[in-house]
Amino acid sequence: MRRRISIFGATGSIGQSTLDLVRRRPDDFHVVALTGARNIAQLIQDAKAVRAEVAVTSDPSRLAELRDGLAGTGIAAAAGDAALIEAAARPADWVMSAIVGVAGLAPGLEALRHGTTLALANKESLVTAGPLLMQTAREHGATILPVDSEHSAVFQALIGEDIRAVERIIITASGGAFRDRPLSDLDHVSVAEASQHPNWNMGQRITIDSATMFNKAMELIETKEFFEVGPDRIETIVHPESLIHALVGFNDGALMAHVGPPDMRHAIGFALNWPERRTLPVERLDLAKIGQLNFRAPDPARYPALGLASRVMHEGGLTGAVFNAAKEQALDLFIAGQCRFTDMARMVDRTVDVMLTRHRLQNATITLDNVRDVDAEARARTCEDRANTKG
Ligand code: NAD
Ligand code: MG
Repeated sequence: MRRRISIFGATGSIGQSTLDLVRRRPDDFHVVALTGARNIAQLIQDAKAVRAEVAVTSDPSRLAELRDGLAGTGIAAAAGDAALIEAAARPADWVMSAIVGVAGLAPGLEALRHGTTLALANKESLVTAGPLLMQTAREHGATILPVDSEHSAVFQALIGEDIRAVERIIITASGGAFRDRPLSDLDHVSVAEASQHPNWNMGQRITIDSATMFNKAMELIETKEFFEVGPDRIETIVHPESLIHALVGFNDGALMAHVGPPDMRHAIGFALNWPERRTLPVERLDLAKIGQLNFRAPDPARYPALGLASRVMHEGGLTGAVFNAAKEQALDLFIAGQCRFTDMARMVDRTVDVMLTRHRLQNATITLDNVRDVDAEARARTCEDRANTKG
């Protein structure tokens, strides 16, 4: 029997890597839904190549173009947020959640409500609504498999282990584009420079988030939510080679490290084949050639996002949703040339601060509506903050 799969965010970096693996085994998968946003040509091409049942764009103004491109193929075309939810409700055995941003939360939740196995690349889901996501999976007998490489690494290191024997989880960080730049330069770095990752080839937003370490901050929060461990047991270490993706420290002093090439097709393929392991088309590491692996403590002055993550984890509740929205808004401003690289962390910090004093974020119940409300307010406050401090 072919497994029914859907890919949300199929036209992006993770989506394309997922399709690469799927296309290599045409007899094993039946593709139910593929979704994208503005890259309609890619969506049409992929939907045809894998004979998807339906292709969905999140952008209603692009529906006609999608429909025209799929005319005569028997593949349905749809658009808009409701269509994304409908696609997530279609019966599937395995769903890839790879939309970027908080927009990925609702379709992922819907898929979980149908008891599917959700391969979760969209880190914003866990950061904004971790407890809701985990609870929904439990209630509906659904499985979440982490696809972020660090969390896939931890998941793999924990197979056959007892979580109660875990003392700490160590998440590695490449250090991003400006790891070795003098701190005084960081006020003036450009968007183009921040969009160059030393080791990984990823979407632009997550690449810039790697330079600020907002990406790592998100991953620390993800770790807390997914593995349900306390924030004080989660550490970050800078590891410039990006070959060890994470380590798990046990109560007998053992450290289990996951070592692999910096290729997302490993983590995606692991989730696609789980609970089996199958051959994957990724590089086999030659350790003698690599020679050495390096580690250093992250400098809090270079990466203020890490301190913010600790605060978000300790406060809990809706603080993650505020943090994520402020971060997404600050990133939009940076990409648009409206703030400096170093302003991003300052703006996020202030938005989290203000909203923690005005709302009881810590104790709030997490629902999709609550997340949307604080998300909108956090974005507005971050923009306002930018307008007030401009000059
Ligand atoms: P990307 O920007 O390359 O692709 C994003 C996808 O989401 C595209 O298909 C795009 O069309 C779609 N999309 C964008 N805005 C949307 C919206 N408002 N509604 C619906 N769809 C929308 O991003 P990516 O790098 O593939 O990352 C996807 C997710 O996976 C992110 O959450 C990212 O943090 C996470 N992730 C990525 C990597 C990586 O290597 N790229 C690694 C770990 C985790
Ligand atoms: Mg990662």
